[in-house]
Amino acid sequence: MISKKMEALVENSSVIRAMFEEGKKMADLYGAENVFDYSLGNPSIEPPDEVKKAIIDIVTEENPMDIHGYMNNSGYEEVRREIAVSLNKRFDTAFGVEHILMTVGAAGGLNVILKTLLNPGDEVIVFAPFFGEYRNYVNNYDGNLIVVPPDTKSFLPNLREFANRISERTKAVIVNTPNNPTGVVYSENTIKALAEIMYKAQDKFGTSIYLISDEPYRELAYDGVEVPFLTKYYENTIVGYSYSKSLSLPGERIGYLVMPGELDDWEEIVHAANVANRILGFVNAPSLLQKVIGKCVDVPINISQYDRNRKFLYDALSRCGYEMVKPEGAFYLFIKAFEKDDVAFSEKAKKHRLLLVPGSAFGCPGYVRLAYCVDYDMIKRSIPSFQALAKEYYR
Ligand code: PLP
Repeated sequence: MISKKMEALVENSSVIRAMFEEGKKMADLYGAENVFDYSLGNPSIEPPDEVKKAIIDIVTEENPMDIHGYMNNSGYEEVRREIAVSLNKRFDTAFGVEHILMTVGAAGGLNVILKTLLNPGDEVIVFAPFFGEYRNYVNNYDGNLIVVPPDTKSFLPNLREFANRISERTKAVIVNTPNNPTGVVYSENTIKALAEIMYKAQDKFGTSIYLISDEPYRELAYDGVEVPFLTKYYENTIVGYSYSKSLSLPGERIGYLVMPGELDDWEEIVHAANVANRILGFVNAPSLLQKVIGKCVDVPINISQYDRNRKFLYDALSRCGYEMVKPEGAFYLFIKAFEKDDVAFSEKAKKHRLLLVPGSAFGCPGYVRLAYCVDYDMIKRSIPSFQALAKEYYR
């Protein structure tokens, strides 16, 4: 009885989610300490104490009718102001309340902006490897996803292939830096080159092409690496942010969109995004969490645990003969499988109780993703399994 469109979506439903469920079953079977689950990007660092304090303070001190009621579909003004002020301080921008829309996480924000922009058949360009859900989000509004093949040396966007694919049908381009699944951070030079291609294409086709910067990992950058703020390089940029990873709140579903005043047709876009937030059924982002964010915008984030995991795993796996680009951000490693068939490789990994997500879930076969937002001791215990897996190929 379900729709044809849903039938296909259910059929291709998330490999990552399926693996997460499988991990739980394996834990029952072999004991949780003997299963090495690297499948899901679920933060392993507790939310900062300030989040808990903010929740308690808000529910004890503020008017419940205000905390739990409906508000403007774009969110509480005072919260959006706090976010704008914080962004302006950090990135030397000039945002106001009117440029910020509170969303149900990054996923909610992406759906709002794609609903706002896309006509059926419009093309949205992504760079492989990419967060697999982009395919579904674009499909929700009958857009066509155009995939730029990967540059597997650097895992930076393959700009030559990008220039070949951008066309009069291109409505939007999605980038994600720091990147899931590679952990790569795009340098300023890369972003400038990407912006130049987009400006040229806009001129050539006389169209507006929007750059959607999906950045739930913005704060997760290591070794002091800079994550450039994209609105500074390309005027038609919309930023999607989420607190899922930075404040470890993925279940709470809270984030925002930044729609700068420089956007072509800014007024219509902002108004339509507000309506999209409502009619997609979100209505507004969760009210209590909005207020929590209002109090926590500038809370410092400690990513030292992720950094320790990153360094340990990168060194240990390199010693076992695995190849990967050293990640500078997020909490993922994207390693080359020892055979072309990444699904077969991850099945072999399961025999060693390692749960790794095939790269084909990210449009990049031949690789697997590890999410290292896990317990450090689990990583240590898992190394013999990685060694045993490598030995299956190199006896
Ligand atoms: N975009 C990317 C690149 C992600 O990795 C994720 C989640 O893992 C999301 C969006 C969705 O984030 P949220 O939980 O805030 O909706």
